[in-house]
This record gives sequence, C-alpha cells and structure tokens, in this order.
Amino acid sequence: MTDLTKLSAAALADMLASGEVSSVEATQAHLDRIAAVDGDVHAFLHVSDHALDVAADIDRRRAAGEQLGPVAGVPLAIKDVLVTTDMPSTSGSKILEGFMSPYDATVVARSRAAGLVPLGKTNMDEFAMGSSTEHSAYGPTRNPWDLERIPGGSGGGSAAAVAAFEAPLALGSDTGGSIRQPAHVTGTVGMKPTYGGVSRFGAIALASSLDQVGPVTRTVLDAGLLHDVIGGHDPHDATSLTDEWPSFAAVAREGATGGVLKGLKVGVIRELPDSGFQPGVSESFRAALAAMEAQGAEIVEVSAPHFEYGVAAYYLILPAEASSNLAKFDSVRFGLRVDVPGGTVEDVMAATREAGFGDEVKRRVILGTYALSAGYYDAYYGSAQKVRTLIQRDFDEAFAQVDVIATPSAPTTAFKLGEKIDDPMQMYLNDVTTIPANLAGVPGISIPAGLAPEDGLPVGIQFLAPAREDARLYRVGAALEALLLDSWSGPLLDRAPVLGGAR
Ligand code: GLN
Repeated sequence: MTDLTKLSAAALADMLASGEVSSVEATQAHLDRIAAVDGDVHAFLHVSDHALDVAADIDRRRAAGEQLGPVAGVPLAIKDVLVTTDMPSTSGSKILEGFMSPYDATVVARSRAAGLVPLGKTNMDEFAMGSSTEHSAYGPTRNPWDLERIPGGSGGGSAAAVAAFEAPLALGSDTGGSIRQPAHVTGTVGMKPTYGGVSRFGAIALASSLDQVGPVTRTVLDAGLLHDVIGGHDPHDATSLTDEWPSFAAVAREGATGGVLKGLKVGVIRELPDSGFQPGVSESFRAALAAMEAQGAEIVEVSAPHFEYGVAAYYLILPAEASSNLAKFDSVRFGLRVDVPGGTVEDVMAATREAGFGDEVKRRVILGTYALSAGYYDAYYGSAQKVRTLIQRDFDEAFAQVDVIATPSAPTTAFKLGEKIDDPMQMYLNDVTTIPANLAGVPGISIPAGLAPEDGLPVGIQFLAPAREDARLYRVGAALEALLLDSWSGPLLDRAPVLGGAR
C-alpha cells in the first residue's frame, strides 16, 4: 500500500480523482503522521478535530458526481498568521492565545471552497518576526532534517510540516523571507507571489507594504496548484491586483517538460558578498547554475549596488509599520487583558502588552515607534524609503537585461537552535537575499538546489522575476527541479523515518 504522506499533492489529487483513495484515507494518513512525529517536530500549534468530517464531506460530494476542483480532498496546513473560524489564530503570540476569528482569511475561504482539507495551524515566530521560529510564544519548531536545528522562520511550522510529510501543502506568509528561507533550510519549495497577487485579507498584518501570502510545498507543481487556489483579485484587500493570472500549475507542468532553459538569461548579482555565504551554499548555487547552463541558459552578471542596504532599510520600514499594526492589540478588542486593580485604561494596556508580547516584538515596536517619532521620521523612515526606491531601480535595470535573477536563498544551511537567538543582528542578516524582493514587490521562489557537502543539509536556490511575472518562476523552477530533484529528494525520504514514521 502506498504511503499517502509521501506523495506530492498532485499525485495524491490524481488518486483521489480516480477514486483509488478517499480523502478520509488521505487525511487519516496525515493525522497519523502528525501523531507519530509532531511531538518531536512541533510544526503544529493546533490540529483540527474535524478534518475527517471535512474529508468525508468531500468524498460524499465526489461520490454524488459533483464536479470538484483539481486538489479537492488534499490536506492542507495553515500558518497561524491566517485567521480561521474553526480553529484558534494566535500568530504565535500569547496576546492572542485562544483567539477565535469571526471570519476566515480569504486564502482560507478559497482553500475550503477548493475542497482542501485544513489539518491545523502551524507554528511561527511571534507576529512573523524572526528567521528560526524560536520567537514563537509556544516553543520552537524543529527541523525534520536534524531536530537540533531550526526550521527557518517565521513560517518554520509550515515548512517543517511539509518537509516531515505531515502535510503535502501549506500556506505561509512572507514579509522579508518567511516563506522562502524556511523552504531553503527544509528542502521544500516556497513561493512569495508578486505583492498584491494573493489576498492578505485575514492575514494578521506585520508590515503592510511588504506582506504577501503564498504556498509552501515539496514540488514546484504543488506550489502552482495551491497558488491557483488562493490567488487572484479580492475586493476585501485594497492592495489586491486585478490582473488575470495564468494557471501556475499548467505553467509548472509545461516548465517540467524541459526546453524552457534554452536561451534563458539568468542574472547573478555582482555585488552579493560571497564572504557571507557558507561554502556549501555557494557550491550548491554554482552547481545549479551550471546545470542550467548545460541546458542552454545564459548566466549574465548584473549589478544591484543597493541590495546590500536592503537589510538596513527593511529593519526600519518593518518595525515602523509593525509598531502601527500592533497598536490594535490594546486589551480592548482582542485577546489578552491583564487587569490592574485601581489602574487607568493606559495601565491595563501597558500591563497587557508587557505580559502578552515577547522580547522580539517589543524590540521592534520600540524601534518602529522611535523611527517614526517627530524629528527622526525623515532621517530614518524617510531614508529607508529612498533606499527602497533605489533597490526597485536596481531591479528595473537588471530585468532589462535578464529574464530572472538567481541567488542562494539564504546565506547558511539550518543553524542550531539557540545559536543566534541572543544576537538579533546575526538573525537579521539571514534575510539579506530575501528582503529585496519584498522591498520591490517582485515575486520570488526558493526551490531545493541540493545538500551542502559539509553538513548534508538542504540548500535552496532563489529565483526572482519582475512584478506580475510569477509564471516565469514556475516555468524556470519546474525546469530546474526536473534536473535536480534526485539529488535531494532521495536523502529526505530516507531520513524521514528517523522521526518515527513508517515508510
Ligand atoms: N526574518 C524576517 C523578519 O524577521 C522575515 C519576516 C517575515 O517574512 N515575516 O522580519
């Protein structure tokens, strides 16, 4: 009997459509897998207690001859930053412990309408601030490749769930890399769509000019399938684009047949400091480029002189926007309230925020409030916005010469739990390659490029494309994946049983 947890979403969807397996069987297999390994991995903050009922309903509708969408019946993990009516939504914070939303995020509603079966809510750094999931108020998630290592962040739970075969599909959010960097360190695929390409309605806001929702999966085709479900215009999100998008699954299928790499111009950034990258990360990156070159791609050096200022600009813009977004957690409408006998409203608010927010959130709220304060606004927030424009121009100039830009997805493989937690600067520097895409609003995908020779851990390669050209990333990503897949998927399958699950 096939282990249903080891299949791609596309393969599982085929078996569901042909009636070879039921959604109840597929869902049960994933719930069993969660029961077997999630005590070690801790990818989930909440496991749904009615996933099997949802699955049974899909099976009934299919049996009744209803026309269901291409992924109906496939299980899905949902990052806890996305609000859900039937499960608590905490964004990894104590201040929202047990919070039940009166509505579903649009991406959740669309997933339900497509017949996806929500398995649960995944762990994350508090309010999506972090690169390791160690800032979760509910304890860290561990990397399925090595339980002593971080699964990336902020969406470490979604990436770990997918990597540990607890879910074939997951939803994530990416403000500065929180989909792509976890994908990089867990050997999964993570796609940050063009800003405005996927609705953020019901995504608990971190930094509104940067936030995007997107898929985390084990294959490029699966990411396309999920993107097709969640993408497109939403009148509830004022930044939502009205574009007509192609089917990204169809584009990925076309890319995988090969041929698309011939004549493709792939830009590599001259100024990206080689020194900050772990040797095995650079090596896997170069090997992936060589594999593309062998198929007829042309590697072109492009200049992006302002990329290196991305981290500095981001860590002003993000805290500024976050401090304002998080002002709503004031003990009045949502979540926690710490009573102060005889105290004023302000005392209650202060006590609630003191008790409800973790250190990283407080750090950023203080930083952001300072950056926005009178007399400093121009010097900090204003300058950061100018850098942002310069980075956007770098992209415009680069994309006038090349079809896509390629970078390593992050500087190192998964680091050890605890290694960077006391050094915010080191944690922030992780985001050097992912942040520019958010600052410019362009799409980016991380796909597995192989394993670093020195530690045997996954390495991702990131592709970036001009805004609205998400399809290009699916086409190129699927083509490279078809070339490289064997180099990483084998070891992952071999290692998975270490977590206690049956093959
Ligand atoms: N690591 C980045 C940060 O800490 C990414 C956050 C994100 O994309 N949500 O801000």
